[in-house]
Amino acid sequence: MKTYIVGNWKMNLTVGESSIYLHKLLKRLKQARGLEVVVAPSLIAIQSLSLQVDRHKIKLAAQNFYHQDYGAYTGEVSISQLRTLVDYAIVGHSERRYIFKETDKDIRAKVAAAIRNGVTPILCIGETASERDFGETKDVLRDQLFGGLSDVSAEDLKKVIIAYEPVWAISSVKGARLASPDDIATSVDLIHKQLKARFGKEVEEQIPVLYGGSVNPSNAGAYLTIPGVNGLLIGGSSLIADHFVDIIDLAKRLRS
Ligand code: PEP
Repeated sequence: MKTYIVGNWKMNLTVGESSIYLHKLLKRLKQARGLEVVVAPSLIAIQSLSLQVDRHKIKLAAQNFYHQDYGAYTGEVSISQLRTLVDYAIVGHSERRYIFKETDKDIRAKVAAAIRNGVTPILCIGETASERDFGETKDVLRDQLFGGLSDVSAEDLKKVIIAYEPVWAISSVKGARLASPDDIATSVDLIHKQLKARFGKEVEEQIPVLYGGSVNPSNAGAYLTIPGVNGLLIGGSSLIADHFVDIIDLAKRLRS
């Protein structure tokens, strides 16, 4: 299985700044076998970056899209409009769930739309601090996982990536704290077990599970070596070129 290093730029960088940053990354990165580097720029920059990017080195992801393919949905952009520009799409990020009130039903429709359009969905799941404190982590992960995947056929499940992102560990969340490798190992193991129980071993073994939450160059090595973790989804640190490249180099070294 590949190692995925995914940077989510969120609502940061202008079109010009995004282009300068991508140029810097492309200059510093070499193609690496087994490593998939992905960046998710703001929607407005995606088209120009798709012309600039070298897809052998870096793939693009959408941060969000609407689940219908076309029609009278003023202000929305569909994944069928984005499909020639991106290879991946982040779905169900906690900021979409909690700020924009996306439900599992909305998320399920987006996962299905991405797959229908040949784009790999990166389905984010993770418990909040209070859900964790109330001992609800297992139930929340199960509900978000199957809430997002229940319309996906067994064959298409192999085209999905899961990102475990405990909301309490995301750097921009007030009072965020670092998740320990043990915390993550327990949840990632739960996710693998739930996938296996529902879809079988053969499918489960093909679904990458990433970790996201305050990853930086100093903790990335510890997170990348957790059994069952196949890569990282990175917010804040992906905006600092030196940090993002350091994490990619580390992932490369760990694979060799
Ligand atoms: C995120 O929001 O998906 C994320 C992982 O952010 P950060 O790395 O800044 O915690």
